[in-house]
Amino acid sequence: MRSSIVLFGLAAVHGANAWGTLGHETVAYIAQNFVASSTASWAQNILGDTSDSYLANVATWADTFRYTTAGKWSAPFHFIDAEDNPPSSCSIDYDRDCGAGGCVVSAITNYTARVQSTKISSSEVATALKFIVHFVGDITQPLHDEAYEVGGNDVDVTFDGTSTNLHHIWDTNMPEELRGGYQLSDAKSWAADLTTMINTGSYKSQKAAWISGLDISNAKKTSLAWAADANAYVCSVVMPNGATTLESGDLYPTYYNNAIPTVELQIAKAGYRLAKWLDAIAAKSAKKRDVDLEDEDEDEVVATNGMSLLPLPRQLSDAQLRRAAIGYGCKH
Ligand SMILES: [Zn+2]
Repeated sequence: MRSSIVLFGLAAVHGANAWGTLGHETVAYIAQNFVASSTASWAQNILGDTSDSYLANVATWADTFRYTTAGKWSAPFHFIDAEDNPPSSCSIDYDRDCGAGGCVVSAITNYTARVQSTKISSSEVATALKFIVHFVGDITQPLHDEAYEVGGNDVDVTFDGTSTNLHHIWDTNMPEELRGGYQLSDAKSWAADLTTMINTGSYKSQKAAWISGLDISNAKKTSLAWAADANAYVCSVVMPNGATTLESGDLYPTYYNNAIPTVELQIAKAGYRLAKWLDAIAAKSAKKRDVDLEDEDEDEVVATNGMSLLPLPRQLSDAQLRRAAIGYGCKH
């Protein structure tokens, strides 16, 4: 909040980041806190960064890239537009909801394959890892798993005196209200607090469920389950009484107080899942090297954009037309 006002000139870039800079960097630091040391070395080697922020430093790269001319094709990868009916019914259906340009589920599936590939260049492997670090964060933000009003971008709200939209307060305003800033140091300290909650606090008993069924050899099924998990919060927490009631009055503090535990939970979940996801990938890569396997899983390394993973083409729905009309970006 404060930071967005002070850094007025940067507001457009800053506001464009899904989960916001703070959220994505926090997810990355949590993952760093939980990965095996061999995974850390594997990732540092791919990224060419041995600093203690090696994942945090690339956590928002995908959001910068999507707004460049060269990276426009990747914009649909940040979400999946569930055409469900909140608040009465929430659901995710890959064939119904993954758009013709791809979605966060197809992207996680594709880049999980590519980061393990020995058939693509090292810079493409690094790109795949950067996408994974970002998209495992995006998929836990409930409004990245919802088509209603373009993921809440078209639900106008007031938050702590600022006119904005529902999507943006989940990405940015509420996390920053909680932690007071969006510098790397803010992310690091939020990650430290959430790491403690995972290790010894209220998340300790839940963390096993967060990674239940995690399987890098079935990335589509795993990430679809993550999308469904986040999408359910659209009905229960994001708009339990529908969106119209959110468009009048100030959502701070009553709505905020009700929603912020879910924001924290989802950030913690994303970081913990990312750690386990990368651990599984790094372990498999090490095993492959040890036994010198001839790319047995690589019969089909899909193209950079992963289009072969998508559902069969069908007529565009109204929700898909609206998403296309705003250029697959976020309003802010
Ligand atoms: Zn994003």
